Amino acid sequence: MSDIIHLLPDSVANQIAAGEVIQRPSSVIKELVENSVDAGATDIRIVIKDAGKTMIQVIDNGIGMSETDARLAFERHATSKISKADDLFALSTMGFRGEALPSICAISEVEVKTRKADSKMGTRLVISGSKVMAQEPVVCEIGTVITVRKIFFNVPVRRKFLKSDSVELSNIMREFERLALVNNNVRMRIDTGMRALDLRQSSFRLRIQDIWKNNLKSDHLIPVEVDTSLVKIEGYISRPEFARRRNPLQFLIVNGRNMRHSYFHRAIVSCFDGLIASDTQPNYFLKFTVDPASIDVNIHPTKNEIKFEYEQQIWPILVSAVKTALGKFSAVPSIDFSVDAIPLDPVREGARASQPTVSFRGDYNPFKSEHISSPRPNGNWQTLYESFLSPEGGIEKQTKSGNDDLFSGSAGSRLGAVCIQYASKYIITGSGEGLVIIDQHRAHVKILFEDYLSRLRKTDIVSQSLMFPESLTLDQTQMTALGDVEDELRKIGFSIEYDNSNIWRIVSAPSLIKQTDAADVVLRILDSVTIDSANYGKEGDVGGSLTEKMALILARSAAIRRGQRLTPTEMESIISDLFALQTPSLTPDGNPVFIIIDEERLQKMFS
Ligand code: ADP
Ligand code: MG
Repeated sequence: MSDIIHLLPDSVANQIAAGEVIQRPSSVIKELVENSVDAGATDIRIVIKDAGKTMIQVIDNGIGMSETDARLAFERHATSKISKADDLFALSTMGFRGEALPSICAISEVEVKTRKADSKMGTRLVISGSKVMAQEPVVCEIGTVITVRKIFFNVPVRRKFLKSDSVELSNIMREFERLALVNNNVRMRIDTGMRALDLRQSSFRLRIQDIWKNNLKSDHLIPVEVDTSLVKIEGYISRPEFARRRNPLQFLIVNGRNMRHSYFHRAIVSCFDGLIASDTQPNYFLKFTVDPASIDVNIHPTKNEIKFEYEQQIWPILVSAVKTALGKFSAVPSIDFSVDAIPLDPVREGARASQPTVSFRGDYNPFKSEHISSPRPNGNWQTLYESFLSPEGGIEKQTKSGNDDLFSGSAGSRLGAVCIQYASKYIITGSGEGLVIIDQHRAHVKILFEDYLSRLRKTDIVSQSLMFPESLTLDQTQMTALGDVEDELRKIGFSIEYDNSNIWRIVSAPSLIKQTDAADVVLRILDSVTIDSANYGKEGDVGGSLTEKMALILARSAAIRRGQRLTPTEMESIISDLFALQTPSLTPDGNPVFIIIDEERLQKMFS
């Protein structure tokens, strides 16, 4: 009986390895350009024919290879970048697995011309399907030219899987953008036959603008900067109003490599909560510098996924850096009376501000159940509410005959008191207590939170099947969390089906939220049970039960945003709903919902 186990020939092993690293023409470009960068090139040129299917050529002015090195470079696990396992952990170059070149050679015809500065002649090497077909001296420039022809010619299945030219070309352009962004100090050119780009060496900011010049201007970008012992974060976020509905520009660069990191991605996006419409995504271009020993990029063959040792610690640093940047930007006062001119009714004669009878309760805990009992107003809020001014200037007290209507929570029940919206973020109105400035997003979150909480407790939530089920990719922690909260999620109207390998599908969601927000809401709920609430920073998690957490997450998702224009009726409705609550002054996570400036303070300001 003959043995059945045999070693795969190298050429087959290389083809298998190639499948992991090289999926399409754009992956060839990525590997070749990263090698050129590692070789110290300051000028890299890419030439493409037929979306890379016929030819991909990368020309660099890097250090080049000697004859022996050129030959060795195509052996598996040949790399000049590491020599012992320890080096893996202290690596700052792009490559290091020594797999790219042999993988490319295994599935195409490759020609290399390369010369080092100290030799007169260069080397030319032709390899086809892992076999060396020619090796000879050649006259060429210092640096390396690698030409890859007929990709997947010997792996018909893979060749068949290539998409149309336009799709492959767009993959190539996306890859080029990523490489160009990271390597802003390298001149980068590409010529696809359809499109040619020549990006000069420049600063990070200018590189961003050079790449996306058609739709990104300098004043769209807000700088982000923080430097701690664990991580240095620098780069730009786009101003909230340039958030995109489709194809947001989102780049996370770690030690000079483009990476995907869903946890940090969500951290960044969460900073825009309430600032952008929920169906849009912010743009960001952030560079992280960390100790190479504290990250692991080997978890994926294409090395674009990363693990951080200090993920939990970096989260709050990242969030606060982005929020600080956003804060600085919106803190810039804009005195522009042509926009949002304030037709506010001043406090009238006879409504002279009495000593405020309202005080904020710093010790207020919204989760002591006693506070959540009734949505009926009582105590001092009523006074405040009742004394809102009507446009006629009379204090609303006269209209108290309709007292019940007054607190029915419907719009207009305040008989058209004057309120205006300022900066698309605040509702300003007057009351006997003074000038009231309400944060529209927080107010709505608060109103919805109370409503959802009572509905969740009564399991009075309507579920709706999604027309387009949203898919969810979960990591280990999230899957465990899902196991923990699955029942609760079902109770509030989510049904989630297991698809395959870590992919889940949300097939129905509570009708309270937008269908497109379903995945985001589920992820937030999962995170809220896994991530230590202290890490969330200020606008973060509420303590409290899972039901409370879910109510808050749903409320945040469904609430009107900052930046959203409101009609007078909508403002009215928010004001009456808010002040119908027993405790309107603080959000569930303890932030002020509105402020009051009384007349005395106003007078002081004018003196
Ligand atoms: P890795 O980049 O992981 O080391 P590769 O297979 O991509 O593995 O490359 C193998 C080796 O070939 C590199 O370590 C480098 O020494 C050499 N090499 C590849 N491309 C170039 C280039 N453009 N210029 C100079 N040397 C190169
Ligand atoms: Mg490489």
